[in-house]
Amino acid sequence: MATTTHILGFPRIGEKRELKFALEGYWRGELDLPQLAATGASIRQENWTLQADNQLRFVTAGDFAWYDHVLNMSLLLGHVPQRHRDGDIDMDTLFNIARGQSRQECSCHDGNAASEMTKWFNTNYHYIVPEFSADDTFKVSWSQLFDEVDEAIQQGHQVKPVLLGPLSYLYLGKSVTAEFDRLSLLPQLVIAYQTIVDKLAAQGVAWIQIDEPILALELEPVWLDAFQTAYTQLQRKNKQGSPKLLLTTYFDSITDVLERVTALPVDGLHIDVVSAPQQLDQVSEKLPADWVLSVGVINGRNVWRADLAALLKQLQPLKAQLGERLWIASSCSLLHSPVDLSLETDLSEAMQSWFAFARQKVTELGLLGAALDGDTQAIEACRKYSLPIEQRRASQQVNKPHVRQRVEAINESLATRSLPYQQRAIYQQEALQLPFLPTTTIGSFPQTGEIRKLRRDFRQGHLSESDYKTVLKAHIHEAVERQEALGLDVLVHGEAERNDMVEYFAENLSGFQTTRFGWVQSYGSRCVKPAIIVADIEREKPITVEWSQYAQSLTSKQMKGMLTGPVTILCWTFPREDIPRKTMSQQLALALRDEVADLQSAGIDIIQIDEPAIREGLPLKKRDHQTYLDWAVQSFRIAASSAVPQTQIHTHMCYSEFNEIIESVAALDADVITIETSRSNMELLDAFEAFNYPNEIGPGVYDIHSPNIPSQAWMVELLKKASQAIPAERLWVNPDCGLKTRGWPETEAALRNMVAAAKTLRAHWKAQVIV
Ligand code: GLN
Ligand code: ZN
Repeated sequence: MATTTHILGFPRIGEKRELKFALEGYWRGELDLPQLAATGASIRQENWTLQADNQLRFVTAGDFAWYDHVLNMSLLLGHVPQRHRDGDIDMDTLFNIARGQSRQECSCHDGNAASEMTKWFNTNYHYIVPEFSADDTFKVSWSQLFDEVDEAIQQGHQVKPVLLGPLSYLYLGKSVTAEFDRLSLLPQLVIAYQTIVDKLAAQGVAWIQIDEPILALELEPVWLDAFQTAYTQLQRKNKQGSPKLLLTTYFDSITDVLERVTALPVDGLHIDVVSAPQQLDQVSEKLPADWVLSVGVINGRNVWRADLAALLKQLQPLKAQLGERLWIASSCSLLHSPVDLSLETDLSEAMQSWFAFARQKVTELGLLGAALDGDTQAIEACRKYSLPIEQRRASQQVNKPHVRQRVEAINESLATRSLPYQQRAIYQQEALQLPFLPTTTIGSFPQTGEIRKLRRDFRQGHLSESDYKTVLKAHIHEAVERQEALGLDVLVHGEAERNDMVEYFAENLSGFQTTRFGWVQSYGSRCVKPAIIVADIEREKPITVEWSQYAQSLTSKQMKGMLTGPVTILCWTFPREDIPRKTMSQQLALALRDEVADLQSAGIDIIQIDEPAIREGLPLKKRDHQTYLDWAVQSFRIAASSAVPQTQIHTHMCYSEFNEIIESVAALDADVITIETSRSNMELLDAFEAFNYPNEIGPGVYDIHSPNIPSQAWMVELLKKASQAIPAERLWVNPDCGLKTRGWPETEAALRNMVAAAKTLRAHWKAQVIV
């Protein structure tokens, strides 16, 4: 029998983001439910046809979601937050949980808040967090999964449904009632899972993929124990003819818990050997004799062509050992890859031959499966398929000796400012002449339709470079005037030239490739289009200097230069697979270091290096954190350390929870850090206080995600609160994040109040000091 090939899931957005546009049309009331449903059905049909055409043993169902697959699971289990329960569960329930129900939509009460959203492990996908309370019940109530299984069967496919497993579902949720142990819900939850399995059995399903990605975390023993209990209960009724369970893990190794896993009553195990190749030997050795082993060899999270020739060689002995029990698969769901490389007609032929997007990855699996089964044509095809990978390895355009040398020469002194903060602060005070409680913003100003059109026209060649620059400079001029009128102390140029804080640098550094349709779902209808690191990175010419210098020429106030940090650029792009993340981060750091030096020479005395993603890059296992943090911090410091003591380096981060990494945040040694704190009512400052954070801090005093205009009094209160954690001499006054998603009227109103709040406190606190 042929080697079993399958994927853990396929992107649901459609090759040209059809689902996004349909969803947004539906939300605006321009599309009705049948029209939305038709878009979903056609995406699923296309995805399944592709899998069948490539001879995958199963097509995967249950990977399609209108908004999020974790939310699907909640609906399937009839597990809906109390505030969203009014009558039957339907599509509106789904979207209300995901997006909140506004007051306008519902006049009866204040509107029901959306559920929280959080990152899916260490990916850039966000899921809707299930909410658990002590009296929760579960009752299978949403037929989408069963309908889609039927739909696939009717289209003539052998279907393998995917479920998020009960332990991961519980673990990834949060408790909303105090003092209660989520695990107490498990027995009931498993009963609902049993019902689901029974229904799938009745539909004729032979295998179910049950995802338990939390097995790759460092789980507490109670959770591990719960696996045994739950799966025993789930399989209690397992009799002849009922579906088999493939327990699926991904994103990291599970060897820590291998003994626990192999004791579970399931029928097979999937491991991710892309993120953790070292686990393969141990797992295959310890595999129970009647289990299948699904080996995830095709990277679901990146865009690179698989080295099929090498994989074939690696898998052949395993095939000999396991025979039919060897399955091959994508490492994780292909949800995290863009959909179709064949749309990228602008890419050079060489570049085309380096990549594989989701569709191409399915083809790779089909080919690899056939080759493993001894098909000589497929074996030859695998060999040919790997040739560009070898050529690329030898290319000096990819592996640039001069960049390598510079990276090799990195040492501690390159990553250290010439003086410690306390001394730098004295120089900076003298050079910058900033008032007590200086006011500033985080970088971007409203990206109006006009600005977006300007960039689009330039990109599409409808506007000459000089015309583009002239109009852009007019926007910068306007932003500067507005800031001067508001009385801000440290100004910014507004980032009108940037579509996105990472893509802009990717387009202007050598070593990156951007795509036209390489979209990946971030959450709901939102997609991102990460650039790809394709070669050693270098800066061929200054990137931001002209804009910052021009902006500085318009004002006697300080103009803050604005860069995206090395770690954030790395975290928000598709990295190379042939060199370590650390090396790419260091290359970026060196490029940015040169930019810092050039900005400084051009008369920019304050430079912000944004690192909002530094925490996202953390590996899944705590024991791997420090190694990452060490090189991440070093990269930032390399970038910052071309600054002389008089030059003030800022950084900005916008995520919650600094506790875990506060030492590393301090180790960045930025002169000033601006952070998001307003939504937590300054609670996030606790970590800084507890740690006795030594440098200056700008705790965000208002939430830029909301159009509401914060009052002066409100911000005064927040600043007073902040001053209890951080000495006022080291406080800055600024919003939580950049303002690009806001309009000018609300931005100006909010900043006017913010400046007034700072002035009030200056007067108040100065008076207190004099007394
Ligand atoms: N400087 C960027 C901006 O203002 C920072 C964005 C971010 O932190 N995500 O838009
Ligand atoms: Zn931010």
